[in-house]
Amino acid sequence: MGIAIWRGIVYTVRMAKKAMLIGAGGVAGVAAAKMARNPETFGELLIASRTEARCKAIKADIESRPWFAEKGVSTKISTAQIDAMDTPRLVALIRAFKPDIVMNIALPYQDLAIMDACLEAGVSYLDTANYEPPDEAHFEYSWQWAYRERFEKAGLTAILGCGFDPGVTQVFSAYAQKHYFDTIETLDILDCNGGDHGYPFATNFNPEINIREVAAKGSYWVADPKDDKPEVAVENKKAFDKGWWVETAPMAIKRVYDFDQVGEKDMYLLHHEELESLGCNLKGIKRIRFFMTFGQSYLTHLKCLENVGLTRIDPIDFKGQKIVPIEFLKALLPDPSSLGPRTKGKTNIGCIFHGMKDGKPVDYYVYNVCDHQECYREVGSQAISYTTGVPAMIGAKMFLEGKWTEKGVHTCEEFDPDPFMVELNAQGLPWKEIFDPVKVP
Ligand code: NDP
Repeated sequence: MGIAIWRGIVYTVRMAKKAMLIGAGGVAGVAAAKMARNPETFGELLIASRTEARCKAIKADIESRPWFAEKGVSTKISTAQIDAMDTPRLVALIRAFKPDIVMNIALPYQDLAIMDACLEAGVSYLDTANYEPPDEAHFEYSWQWAYRERFEKAGLTAILGCGFDPGVTQVFSAYAQKHYFDTIETLDILDCNGGDHGYPFATNFNPEINIREVAAKGSYWVADPKDDKPEVAVENKKAFDKGWWVETAPMAIKRVYDFDQVGEKDMYLLHHEELESLGCNLKGIKRIRFFMTFGQSYLTHLKCLENVGLTRIDPIDFKGQKIVPIEFLKALLPDPSSLGPRTKGKTNIGCIFHGMKDGKPVDYYVYNVCDHQECYREVGSQAISYTTGVPAMIGAKMFLEGKWTEKGVHTCEEFDPDPFMVELNAQGLPWKEIFDPVKVP
């Protein structure tokens, strides 16, 4: 018995790898906690961020949890201060710690700087959101896809957008394509947050990134605009190298959907990053849309903030100083990582596919329901950070265990979905399948 335990520990120590996590916000806190729940994979973890005190707070919280070291071995956690935009210091930190993977769970603005540092230090990379220039509320993959050849040549892997959406939605898509369809014709991604934090207005993840996303024009992806039934709300159609974007005014397309375990909610069409890569990678795809639920109070507050200029991303002069209104607004709003104890209710995020298999039509819905309070009890966070941080940990686990190791720069639908789907069930994000779901009109 004693020998078996020792053998287990020796085996675990040999298999365990080193991960470096950049960022110490709501999502990073969950990813770190879930890594510590998998010490057989994550032997050592360095949490490095702009404010080291937040890294230390995450470490102390994890080490005080009843599940820490429950498996007889524990993740060795250390912390460091780093500004991820300071490439020479970041490269030095990576070289000193020698991680097997660097995970960017800070902000999308840092993606390229961290990818540069990874190339220089020779380490693989993962993030949860695609690059966005700070001075332009616009995101697309082109900037990060431009690194493909350099990562391939260096023999390194970059896993892009490994949260829930993007992330799990693409794993769901790869799983549907692998097991249930010859061709997928339409995909609707439905992101519902039925939780309530009790504040009149707060965002569930980084306020700046969140508000930039929802205040932007809506758009959906079509292979051929001739096949699409245009809506009144459509403003513009733009061709790009693979497909077309059909643009709408912000929040112009609204649908109501009855979500399992949440109930009926208003949801609005948004532009979302995974539409771009899925348009390239799903066989036979004709249309992809993304919907997110918002309550009327959130939308009224957002409109008001927009109307008074507080969501502007360009610097303005204020008492002889330059300030960016949206950054100022972020400082006023509740920190998303503090919403855990107050948020009650559930999220329901999933994908509805329609397509063909063996000459017959197939309708398929796969989704996860996550309870805010259960997340809080386990890791001290609300479900939005949880549903992002857990997949980020699983993506790193896939890489470190040799299951997702294709060289180059890849989005999540480009890897084998099966081991990831198994981990979702094992790590707190179980999924459900429905054939013949209610269709989104
Ligand atoms: P937070 O704002 O809570 O945390 C961001 C963290 O990054 C903070 O700790 C911040 O430091 C740190 N940071 C910012 N700039 C730098 C820098 N230059 N160098 C080092 N650290 C820096 O964000 P969230 O945790 O809510 O979100 C994290 C990421 O997850 C974002 O990219 C977001 O877009 C993404 N996301 C993805 C989702 C998905 O499903 N794919 C869903 C939700 C979020 P400091 O503490 O000093 O402010």
